[in-house]
Amino acid sequence: MKTLRELSRVGESTEKLLNKIGIYTLEDLITYYPFRYNMIKRMDLKDGKVIVDGCVMSIPSVFYIRKTLNKIAFKMQIQGKLVNVVIFNRAYLRNRIHIGSIITLFGKYNTHKNMITVSDIYFKSLPPSTVLEPVYHVGYGLSNTRLASIVHANLTETDLLPDYIPSMYIEKYQLLSKKESVYELHHPTSAEKLKKARFRTKYEELFKFMMKMEYLKTNQSKKNGLIRNINWEIVDNFIANLPFNLTEDQITSVKDIYLDLVGNRRMNRLLQGDVGSGKTIVAIVAIYINFLGGYQSAMMAPTEILATQHYETVKKFFHGMDIKVTLLTGRMRASEKKKIYDQLALGHIDVVIGTHALINEKVIYNNLGLVVTDEQHRFGVLQRASLKNKGKTPDILYMSATPIPRTYALTLYGDMTVSNIKSVPSGRKEILTYIKKESEICEVLKAMYDQLQMGYQIYVIAPLIEESEKIDLMTVKELFDKMELAFGKKYNTGVLHGKLSASEKTEVMNDFVKGAIQILISTTVIEVGVDVPKATMIVIFDAFRFGLSTLHQLRGRVGRNHLQSYCYLISNFEKDRLKIMEQTGDGFKISEADFKLRGSGDLFGVKQSGDMKFMVANLQRDFSILVRIKKDVESYLKCHEGKIYIQKLILLSENLS
Ligand code: ADP
Ligand code: MG
Repeated sequence: MKTLRELSRVGESTEKLLNKIGIYTLEDLITYYPFRYNMIKRMDLKDGKVIVDGCVMSIPSVFYIRKTLNKIAFKMQIQGKLVNVVIFNRAYLRNRIHIGSIITLFGKYNTHKNMITVSDIYFKSLPPSTVLEPVYHVGYGLSNTRLASIVHANLTETDLLPDYIPSMYIEKYQLLSKKESVYELHHPTSAEKLKKARFRTKYEELFKFMMKMEYLKTNQSKKNGLIRNINWEIVDNFIANLPFNLTEDQITSVKDIYLDLVGNRRMNRLLQGDVGSGKTIVAIVAIYINFLGGYQSAMMAPTEILATQHYETVKKFFHGMDIKVTLLTGRMRASEKKKIYDQLALGHIDVVIGTHALINEKVIYNNLGLVVTDEQHRFGVLQRASLKNKGKTPDILYMSATPIPRTYALTLYGDMTVSNIKSVPSGRKEILTYIKKESEICEVLKAMYDQLQMGYQIYVIAPLIEESEKIDLMTVKELFDKMELAFGKKYNTGVLHGKLSASEKTEVMNDFVKGAIQILISTTVIEVGVDVPKATMIVIFDAFRFGLSTLHQLRGRVGRNHLQSYCYLISNFEKDRLKIMEQTGDGFKISEADFKLRGSGDLFGVKQSGDMKFMVANLQRDFSILVRIKKDVESYLKCHEGKIYIQKLILLSENLS
């Protein structure tokens, strides 16, 4: 298959941009389907939403109103009428708007003012009939038009792509051919055909996914578990010496795990518990039991920051014991890593904690007995599998703060057992949550100051790092200036966002943990797991941009001990939806509300990732299709053709990853 660079319209810089949005191969490009379509059709000039084209009648003038607000104004002849047009915050467009040229406007018309406020602009006239225009997820300076043109220029390569649906199912469900469906998705010809194309693509994505899942399941259950001879008394003694008493649910979970680990059935357990419910210590006890059994443990976290934090925590709890704990992350020097690989292979390390680096093919364990993965939904299924397969069929403990309904868990993970931590440790105070408008910011700054003066720390969350062209969001930079202005004389502010390198992130986070920084401004990169005891407040700007479950996760960064904590949600919109955050701290209730409101919420985490990431399918919305496919896959795997298929699929994904 051609590489990206061999494709038409892809030069070096374009390749880099494509990589940034996750496109590395021809297949990635062609299957980078639009996430929605704009229905483009000329509308009458009436109050409200309009799509109209016309001729520019005056030279545009640009007004700079404030630092963050500018406006272009001009007149246009539309449907026989001279109309005022304004465009906010896109002053850079002024040189593309010329007297006499025909352009198309998307926006809102106000009859009273005879004015269109533009949300989008096209530098061409409207087509004669209705058109479905694809909208892609883009960013990093790659525009929708540019991506569309690259995809379209290379669509002829579609013939080279594998079709993951066996022909018997194409016939059974009378699906479109792969080629037809790809063309339709990128170039819709009718709403009806588009629907068929989407269905076919969902089927394909989910079929491939379920094949992998089934393969993993059957492969795993064949193997027997490890056996450990350990007295409960020793474990009990370890628990008794912890600095706090475990909650009832924590003890039950520990006992579940103990029975799994001493028994001969292989453990495949999900530990569910709301943020702050104390999952980590349960995992640490599991690691302890595994250590007593004479095996190595690996604990995997989705981010470097989290891995580092877990490392510190584990070391703390094993202090004074003869247990060798090591951190392994991608950013370590090659020589450092090499040393760790050697020690792991020789069995000199008992517990290794890290990120994806743990599943690097160079990591060979001496006798891996337990794998713990934190925030499990963030890992691709195959990634988890490759970690597992390095040892002698180790036991697995997944941890997740995102409640996964039982039916999903069963479909996706089959034989997985679940332990729940429902109650939070005693002595916790409810996080006091308030929704404030931007105009009430003074009140919030005052509350922040109170916390800072008492020696506590604050998270400030900004939704986006990049200045979006369309939406005027408060950027991290602006927030930083605001915080510096307010508190800079006495307190230090740090900034954490996705553009920083891993080591820069870790450094900032460490400064915050140490208390060298009192205010940490961050995009959602801190969203999972970190634990900073003295952080008692979180302020979330543009809170309406977030799903409720995400807000709940973010809020869970504070209120993790006996200190009274606060959460401020700054939002000018959607107060009704956000209200539930003021009313409850129960993650399950919040996730349910989110599910109802959004249909497909962020139930599986903010983003579906790894193998669970689909372009068209959605595990939740398309659950009924998934159930049907599960049956198809099960029967397909029984026939000869199915067995060959799965071998090919596994080979293919191993080559790619
Ligand atoms: P999460 O489930 O979100 O991963 P953590 O394991 O990070 O939560 O626990 C949150 C905080 O609660 C940590 O500081 C941890 O030390 C503390 N903690 C855990 N269990 C208990 C307990 N039984 N009593 C008191 N504090 C606890
Ligand atoms: Mg955690």
